[in-house]
Amino acid sequence: MDKKILSDRLLSMTVSATLEMTSRSRDLKDKGYDVIALSIGEPDFNTPEPIKVAAKEAIDHNITHYPPVPGFPEVREAIAQKLKRDNGVDFKASQVVISNGAKQSIANVFLCILNEGDEVIVPAPYWVSYPSMIQMAGGKTVVIDAGIETDFKVLPAQIEEAITDRTKAFLFNSPCNPTGTVYTKKELKAIARVFEKHPDILIISDEIYEYNLFEGEHVSLASFNSIKDQVAIINGVSKGYAMTGWRIGYVAAPQVIADACNKVQGQYTSGAGSISQMAALEAISTDPKQSAELKMMVAAFKERRDLLIGLLEDIPGFVTNKPNGAFYLFPDVSYYYGKSDGTTTISNSNDLCLYLLDKAHVALVPGEAFGSPQCIRISYATSKEQITEAMSRMAATLKNLK
Ligand code: PMP
Ligand code: GLU
Repeated sequence: MDKKILSDRLLSMTVSATLEMTSRSRDLKDKGYDVIALSIGEPDFNTPEPIKVAAKEAIDHNITHYPPVPGFPEVREAIAQKLKRDNGVDFKASQVVISNGAKQSIANVFLCILNEGDEVIVPAPYWVSYPSMIQMAGGKTVVIDAGIETDFKVLPAQIEEAITDRTKAFLFNSPCNPTGTVYTKKELKAIARVFEKHPDILIISDEIYEYNLFEGEHVSLASFNSIKDQVAIINGVSKGYAMTGWRIGYVAAPQVIADACNKVQGQYTSGAGSISQMAALEAISTDPKQSAELKMMVAAFKERRDLLIGLLEDIPGFVTNKPNGAFYLFPDVSYYYGKSDGTTTISNSNDLCLYLLDKAHVALVPGEAFGSPQCIRISYATSKEQITEAMSRMAATLKNLK
C-alpha cells in the first residue's frame, strides 16, 4: 500500500521535531555511538518514591478497571484543591478533565472549539506540537513573534493587533517551552487587560512547567478576576514530578469546555490509566513547598542552567538570555548560517542540528520547529557531566565552520 491511502490532513501535518530528534539520537545510540541527547524535554530524575508506592498500592487494590472518562472524582477534586492551594483559583472538580498527558488535554480543547478556519493566536517561539494540533482540528495558527531582545515575550499590543472576528483562542505558555521565559505578574496583568475586552475568546494557559521555576512565584492567567471565566488551564504531572511516562495531564476550564472535553475523550480514548491517576493523586496532594524531592530537582535544574550559560559564553556565535524557568535554553545561532567546513554548508537551524548530531554526537532541536529559525533548543534536563561534555564537543566541532 502506498501513501495514497493517507488523508490530506495527515499528509500536511509535520512530525514532532522534539520526538524526531530524540528518535534519531536513540537510533545512533543503538548503533553504538556515544550520543548526548539534549533534545527531549524530560527530567532525568526518577519519579519520587511515595508516588511509585501509591501506584503499587493501586495495583494491589485492583484499581485496574475502566476509570470514569474525565478521571476519578477524588483525583479531579485533588486537582481542584491544588489549583486553589498553588494558584489561588476556584475551579469545581466537575470543571477538571484528566487526560493521557497535557498533550491530549490541549488537543481535546482544540477539537472542542475549532470550526474550519477559526483562528488561534500563538506567540512564537511556541512548543512544536501546538500548530499541528490546531491544524488537525481545522483551525488556523496566527503567530505573533517575540525575539531574544524582548526576552522572548510578546507585547499586549501585538496580541490586540492579531485579534480578528475569527479569533477563537489565545494559546499561552509560561514558563515557556522552548525559551524558559517566565512572564511577570505585571506582564500577565497587561495581557489579561487585552482579553477583558474580548470575553468570547478562550485563553488556553499551558502551565505544565509551573514548578520548574527558579525565582519568584508562578502566576496563573486564571488568577485575574476580570478574565477568570475565559481561561482553560492546562497542567499535568510530567515535568514537575518527573512523571513523563505516567501520561497524566489535565484541563481545568469553563464548565462548557470541560463537558465538551469529556465528550471528545469518551469517543476517542476513555479515561486516562487508572494506576497512573492514583500515582498522580499522591503527587498532586503534596504541597510542592513541602516536597524535598521537588526542591532538589528545581535546585539541580538551576545549577545546570547556570553551568550551561557559562559554557555557552565560550562558544562564539551563541547569543542567549537567562531564563527563569523550564529546563531549556534557546540561543540564537544564526552567526553560523552561511558558514561551511569545506564540505558541508550550514544554511539554517536544521542543518546546524544535523551537523552537530553527525559530527559531535549531540542531539538538539532546530528552532524552525518552534517558529524561530534563527535559534536552536538545548534541553539541560541531564547531568552536569553530560552538559559539560556536550558543550566541549560542540565547541570543537563548530570551530571547523568558517
Ligand atoms: N505543553 C508543553 C509546553 C510541553 O513542553 C509539553 C511536553 N511534552 C506538554 C505540554 C505535554 O506534556 P505531557 O503530555 O507529558 O503532559
Ligand atoms: N515536551 C517535551 C519536549 O518538548 C517532550 C517531547 C514532546 O512531547 O514533544 O521535548
